[in-house]
Order: sequence, then C-alpha cells, then structure tokens
Amino acid sequence: MEKYIDLHTHSTCSDGTFTPEEIIKKAYELGLAAVAITDHDTLSGVKEAIEAGKKYGIEVIAGIEFSVDNDYPMHILGLDFSFPCSSMENTLNALTADRQDRMKKMLLKLKDLGISIDESDVMEFAGGESVGRPHIAQAMVKKGYVSTILEAFQKYLAFGMPAYVKRKKLTAYEIINLIKENGGQSFVAHLHQTGKTTDELYEIISDLKAHGLDGIEGYHTEYTAEMGMDYRKLADDLELIISGGSDFHGNNKVNVNLGTGRGDMKIPYSVLENIKKHRLY
Ligand code: AMP
Ligand code: ZN
Ligand code: FE
Ligand code: FE
Repeated sequence: MEKYIDLHTHSTCSDGTFTPEEIIKKAYELGLAAVAITDHDTLSGVKEAIEAGKKYGIEVIAGIEFSVDNDYPMHILGLDFSFPCSSMENTLNALTADRQDRMKKMLLKLKDLGISIDESDVMEFAGGESVGRPHIAQAMVKKGYVSTILEAFQKYLAFGMPAYVKRKKLTAYEIINLIKENGGQSFVAHLHQTGKTTDELYEIISDLKAHGLDGIEGYHTEYTAEMGMDYRKLADDLELIISGGSDFHGNNKVNVNLGTGRGDMKIPYSVLENIKKHRLY
C-alpha cells in the first residue's frame, strides 16, 4: 500500500492550534506514515512530537521554518535535523526574544489606536515562545475589536498597516548555513508566495543552491497542479531535491487539512526517502 507524508506543519509552539502530540495523533488517524513539525523560529515542539511518534507509530522529522530577510516574501524550511540541535539554540533564542519584544511594540501601537490588548491576552493564544501576529489577531477577535483574524490583519497588523512592526530575520545564506551546521536540509517553501515568475525563480534558486540550498517545496496546499509541475521540474533541472507539505495550522487555516491540504494533495513517502538518502549524518 502506498504511504503518504506531510513535511510542513505548525503546532501550538508557533501559530498552529493543535499541540505537537495532537498533530501526531491526527496523522495516525489519517494513516500518514511520517510528519515533520516545522514551527516558525523554534524547535520546541519536536521533542513532544518524537515521543508521540513512538506511541502512535509515526515517523517524526525534526523541522523548522524561517522567514528570510528579503525585499519580497520568502520562507525556508529546515528538515531532517540531527536532533537535538544545541548549536542552534542561541540564534533561535535571539529570534524568539525579538518576537516577544516586537509583540510588546505592536501592543503599544494598538493602544495608541484605542485598542487595549495586554500581553496576557496574547499569551492565552500563544502556546510557546514563538509569538506572532496571528496570536495578537486572535486576542483582538476575542476582545471584540474585530470580527475575524483576517480583519485584524487587513486593518492593523499586515505590512504597511498602522500596528505593523518589523521583526528580526536572517538572510537566506545565514539560514541555509545554520540549517546545514545542524545536520538539516534546507528547502525554499511555497515558491509562489515569493511573487516571482518561474524564470526569476530559476535565477534566485540557482544562486541559493550555489550557497548550499538542498531543495524546494515540490508539493504545497496552495500550489495549482501547474505550479506543482513547474516547481518540480525546476528542482529536477537544477538538481535539487524536493519536500512537500500541507502547511497545516489547525483552526488558524480552516480549509487546510493535515496531509491532504485542501483535500486532494498526496505526498508519496518516496519524497522523504530521497531526503534521507541525502542525509549527511
Ligand atoms: P509573524 O510570524 O508574526 O510575522 O506572522 C506571520 C503569520 O501571520 C503567517 O504565518 C500567516 O499565517 C499570518 N498572516 C500573515 N499575513 C496575513 C494576512 N494578511 N491575513 C491573515 N494571516 C496572515
Ligand atoms: Zn505559520
Ligand atoms: Fe511559510
Ligand atoms: Fe508554514
């Protein structure tokens, strides 16, 4: 029987709504063979997921997702680390400490706009250290200042809106090196979100490959069939490997299911086998 996997998921350790253990239990119920937990800027959910993986018979891959310091949106996934990754701790602590500082600055801006949200209101939704705008948005909905998370972003929290504050990010080269130093492999996530054409992506990704990039996300919930084919061809042409995942966020992205995305995505286990062949440790 063909086995399927999901290598892009967010837990309560960043902006998902299910705990790492709940994600693994769900994976078991769905019959998935392997799952990577890829929270933003933190590995804090990985240990719990590995334990749950032993209980439910799911292969758990240690992962993380970083945002790149760029003039256009780019995210890079780190997958298949040799876990635990102690040499990454200082960098991750700096990123998550900055997220907490930034949250406080955003709350001050909201206060000036007549919106009174406390840190404790936000932390009710943030399970861990990796606090993000979705948690502030959830607190704004709960306190009745907006009716949806989307409205919170569109009026206040999105880039260019009055409560937006920039956060600390690493460059793509720094992220690729950091991942490699810890035995992981780096993949540019959801390529379409860069807003670049496929031709532009060939140039951008070639340059990153020359700096050690291992691959790109070849399957993602938001890809059309055509995008998926184009990006998998790009990977082939540039001799890169692929990863793939739903970008599951639980109830924070209601139409995105673990494993299958919008319902019809299927990522074969061979994708993970190939990543493991490429492992350096
Ligand atoms: P942060 O990590 O604080 O920069 O927040 C980034 C997260 O906010 C992303 O992972 C998205 O899930 C979410 N997000 C960003 N922009 C929007 C938007 N316009 N509407 C809803 N969610 C958004
Ligand atoms: Zn997220
Ligand atoms: Fe992302
Ligand atoms: Fe993600």
